Amino acid sequence: MSDPQISIDLARIEKNARTVVDLCRQSGITPFGVTKGTCGMPQVARAMLRGGVAGIAESRFENIRRLRDAGIDCPIMLLRSPPLTRVEELVRTVDISLQSELQLMREISRVAERLGRVHDVILIIDLGDLREGIWPSDLIPTVEAVLELPGVRIAGVGTNLTCFGAIIPTRENLTQLVAHAYKVESITGRPLDWVSGGNSSSLPLLLAGGMPAGVNNLRIGEAILQGGRDTFLTDPWDALDRDAFELTGELLEVKTKPSMPIGLSGIDAFGNVPVFIDEGDRLRGIANIGREDVIAEGLIPTRPGVRVLGASSDHLVLDLTEAEPPLAVGENVSFRMNYGALLTVMTSEYVEKVPMRDVQEAGEARTFAIETDAIGGALVVVQNIAERIEQLGFEKGTGENALALSVCARRRDVIRFVEAAGRRHDALGMIWIDSDAAMMPDEGANAPAENAVLRRMLSRLPPHVAPENIVLIGLRNAAPEEVAALKASRMRVFTMAEIDAVGLRQAMREAIALVCAGTRGFHLCYSPTATDMSGWSGGIGGITVRETHSTMEMVALSGKLRSLSISGIDAALPSPIGAECANFILSAFGKTIL
Ligand SMILES: *Cc1c(COP(=O)(O)O)cnc(C)c1O
Repeated sequence: MSDPQISIDLARIEKNARTVVDLCRQSGITPFGVTKGTCGMPQVARAMLRGGVAGIAESRFENIRRLRDAGIDCPIMLLRSPPLTRVEELVRTVDISLQSELQLMREISRVAERLGRVHDVILIIDLGDLREGIWPSDLIPTVEAVLELPGVRIAGVGTNLTCFGAIIPTRENLTQLVAHAYKVESITGRPLDWVSGGNSSSLPLLLAGGMPAGVNNLRIGEAILQGGRDTFLTDPWDALDRDAFELTGELLEVKTKPSMPIGLSGIDAFGNVPVFIDEGDRLRGIANIGREDVIAEGLIPTRPGVRVLGASSDHLVLDLTEAEPPLAVGENVSFRMNYGALLTVMTSEYVEKVPMRDVQEAGEARTFAIETDAIGGALVVVQNIAERIEQLGFEKGTGENALALSVCARRRDVIRFVEAAGRRHDALGMIWIDSDAAMMPDEGANAPAENAVLRRMLSRLPPHVAPENIVLIGLRNAAPEEVAALKASRMRVFTMAEIDAVGLRQAMREAIALVCAGTRGFHLCYSPTATDMSGWSGGIGGITVRETHSTMEMVALSGKLRSLSISGIDAALPSPIGAECANFILSAFGKTIL
C-alpha cells in the first residue's frame, strides 16, 4: 500500500438508510439522504436510495453534478443557498432548495421564469441555532413577498439545528416549526408538501417519541453514513452500524523515543504551543496521514492500545507502546473517524476512496452458462469450450450466479447480454477490451452501427451500471466525435499509448479496482481486434497474445467476473484466431499454465 485509503462499506450504509427510513415511516416522515459527507459519491447515494430514502440532499453543485452525471435521477435537494451567479444552475439541476433570503428568491424567480420553470423552495426558519434561516417575526412578510414571485413555489418550511449554536431539537422548538407551517398554509391557502424538521440531530427526539405531529421530512446524513457516531454520542442507537468508513495508512517509522521533546520550545507548525506529559520512553510510530488529509483529533484507532499523539501536515504521530497485537514499520494502521474527520478525509485529494461491499456474496457457485449465435456456436463446439470449462471445475447452470459467456459475430449482438447482466446483478461494472470505442453518434436506427454500439449501450444500460464503473482498454482508433464523447463521459480509458507507458498489468489493476468499486462485479466485453495475433491483419498494433492471457488471468483472479461477451467471431475470422480466442475465454475462467 502506498497512499492512505478510506474504505466505504456500501452495504452498511444501505442498512443504516433502511433503519432510519423504517423509523421515520412509523411517524409519517419521509427522509432525504445527505451525501455531502462523501462529496456526493454516486455509489453512496445509490446505497442510500436502495435503503429507501426519498431523494438525495447535497450542499454543493459539484457534488450534484457528480450525482446527475452518474445517472442518478431521484429528486435532489440543495441544502445551501447558491451565490447569485449560480442561480441558473440551481434552477436547472435541482428539484427543491432551502432558502432564507428574499433577494435570492427574487433572482431564482426571474431565472426560472426565463427558463419556463417554477422552482420549489423550502423556507428555512431560524429557531435559535443562529446559522441560516428567516427570523420568525419576518416569516409572514417574507411569505407574502414570495407569493408575488411567479417563478418560485413555497413547497415547505423547515429548520436546521445543532449546526452552529448547538441548539438541540426538542418538542418545543419543533412544535414552533409546525405552528409556523400552519401560519404559512393559512396565507398561501394550500397545504405545504414539506415540514422539514432538521438533520440527524432530530433522530434522538424521534426515537424517544417526542417528535410533534406535522413534521414530515428530515435530512439525514451523519446517522446513515456514520451510524450516529456524533448524533448519538453518549447514548448509541444500537440498530445503526458505525463502521462504514475506515481510514488506513502505513507506518513509516517505529522507534522508542522519550515522550518529552528535548531543547528550547517554541510554537509548532500550526502556531500552537504544544503541551506534553512526561511518560518516559515510549514506542512511537509515524503514519503517512497528515493534517492535509484529516482533522487528526477526530481519529479513533481501531487497534486496541494505539493512541494518536498529534499530527503535522503529512505525518501522524502515534503511541504504539500498548498496541495489541504490536505494530511494526510497513504495517497498516486503521482508524474510525468522527464526522469532521470524515469530511476532511473525503475531501483530501491524497486519500484514495475505495467503495466496497463487506457482505458475503451468496454462495460463489462455480456454474456457467453459454449463449451464442450460429457462428459463435460453431466455435464453441469446434473448440470444445463447454467441456474445457467443465474441466476447470465449473458445472453447467442457469442460476443468478452462473458465469455467463456469450459469443457472437457483431458488437451490436452483445448489447442484450450486457443489459441482461446489468439486470441480474444490481450495480455492475464493465471492462471493454477493444481496438474501438464504438462511441460514434448513434443514428437511432433499430440496431446501432457497429461503431456506435457502446454509445447505444450507455443510453440503455440499467441505472445500476454507472459510467464511473466502466473502463475501456486497448483503444487504438478514435474519430474526433468519439474523442469528444469519451471526454464528456466519466468512463476511464486506457489507450494503447497509455498502456505502453504504464504497462498492461498496472492498467488492469486500476481497471479492476474501478469496475469493482461499489459493484457486485463486472461484465467483460472482448473483441479479438484488441490483440495483435500473428498472420492476422485485424489486430495489428494491439496488445500481445501473452498480454491478453495475462489480462484474462487477472480478471479470473479478481473473482468478480460475472459475465463475459466475445464479439467479432464471424465467418471471416481465420480459424487459428478463433482457437486463440477460445484459449482467452479459458484464461478468463481461471485456466493457468500450471
Ligand atoms: C448537512 C446538513 C444536513 C445533514 O446533517 P447531518 O447531521 O449529516 O444529518 C441537513 N440539513 C442541512 C441544512 C445541512 O446543511
